[in-house]
Amino acid sequence: MAEFADLLNAYDWKKEKHVPVIECGDRVKAGDTFDIKLSVGKEIAHPNTVDHHIRWVQLYFQPEGEKTGYPLANCDFSACGESTQEPDKDPAPAGHAMTVATMLNKSGTIFAVSFCNIHGLWENSKDVTVIPAGRKAASRDCKIQNG
Ligand code: FE
Repeated sequence: MAEFADLLNAYDWKKEKHVPVIECGDRVKAGDTFDIKLSVGKEIAHPNTVDHHIRWVQLYFQPEGEKTGYPLANCDFSACGESTQEPDKDPAPAGHAMTVATMLNKSGTIFAVSFCNIHGLWENSKDVTVIPAGRKAASRDCKIQNG
């Protein structure tokens, strides 16, 4: 039987412009709100035209030791070169990024998926450790991890 996972492409985001990049702290405090930035084309820009664009991105969270992944957020980049004047002269070109404020109560893995209308689905992931409330998080530096 074919599996949905077979549709997902993974690669080094520094060499492949479709791979979603996840930026947030490696360690966060339980219950504290923090930002997760998901972007596409961070190192190599992806086209943003009517014919070729990133249509949407999604974020999921899988708590450590659990089977289920929880949808955190999704973003549709609706403009994608559209204009009432002529194609690709859009007055507000969509970027390929979103930032989500969230909080975690358990350690786990953040997954990101992006969809290019020509080149399909791409994935990445990043582990996040949750520090129990009342203890100081050792680092809030952003590190980027390839899935
Ligand atoms: Fe593409």
